[in-house]
Amino acid sequence: MPRVDADLKLDFKDVLLRPKRSSLKSRAEVDLERTFTFRNSKQTYSGIPIIVANMDTVGTFEMAVVMTQHSMFTAIHKHYSLDDWKLFAANHPECLQHVAVSSGSGENDLEKMSSILEAVPQAGNVVTGEMVEELILSGADIIKVGVGPGSVCTTRTKTGVGYPQLSAVIECADSAHGLKGHIISDGGCTCPGDVAKAFGAGADFVMLGGMFSGHTECAGDVIERNGQKLKLFYGMSSDTAMKKHAGGVAEYRASEGKTVEVPYKGGVENTILDILGGLRSTCTYVGAAKLKELSRRATFIRVTQQQSTMFC
Ligand code: 5GP
Repeated sequence: MPRVDADLKLDFKDVLLRPKRSSLKSRAEVDLERTFTFRNSKQTYSGIPIIVANMDTVGTFEMAVVMTQHSMFTAIHKHYSLDDWKLFAANHPECLQHVAVSSGSGENDLEKMSSILEAVPQAGNVVTGEMVEELILSGADIIKVGVGPGSVCTTRTKTGVGYPQLSAVIECADSAHGLKGHIISDGGCTCPGDVAKAFGAGADFVMLGGMFSGHTECAGDVIERNGQKLKLFYGMSSDTAMKKHAGGVAEYRASEGKTVEVPYKGGVENTILDILGGLRSTCTYVGAAKLKELSRRATFIRVTQQQSTMFC
């Protein structure tokens, strides 16, 4: 007989972080950088653990250049050629440590880097503790968590499969950390507060697609429609992506992504500062001097409303 799990599972929108006593005087005192040593490969990584998703429109070299200035990571999409990579590596050697775990600038290193990045999306995402444990014990260092929360994802409506992201992160982080593994919360963040909640829930890294869409550094031209400036943003399993890269949607599967036009937001710098400023404030409200301490200081309260709707 099919089983119904009646335990309550929550999304970012269902909770708020409870403020706690804090001795921090100013947001500027908060340290958002983290250094990780990975369980299996023993590689290390230092930076602010926010990752631009490896999607066609946002995971670009242009994006990586700005992200690197803030020690943030960009998962470059897999459709650049080796020549594109060589040019990028020659012009922006400083970016290489923030687009791949480690790399030199020789040809073999570049090939390796592309194949590492290509392997990342193919690992597929999980949402349960047992899958996380299995993957870590099979040699994975970082597990991507999230099925169906993405802004341009239609998996939940097309397949009925999914898991509320906040609960997925809490449960998967617990399993991963028990084995000294790490997780990425992938998808579902709509505002800086959601990014803070994902870290509070135990995510080591947070991956963002929609929040970085619509910027100058994104691929594609600015579209003008009825006096409004827009940019195209689409899911990696959308009709648009499949037509572009695989000659259309294969008959045996449904497209599981949307194509949307989002307002053009200018340079990504302002968005980055907004997210980092929000995160520093979160840490101050809960008394975490470092991002690393945020999940230890986090108590979530279940709410029925995020904010006043008076002027919405
Ligand atoms: P967002 O930050 O936009 O909410 O979520 C970004 C994540 O959505 C990506 O990192 C990826 O895991 C997921 N995603 C991107 N494109 C698609 C798609 O076409 N279908 C599905 N199911 N997920 C997608």
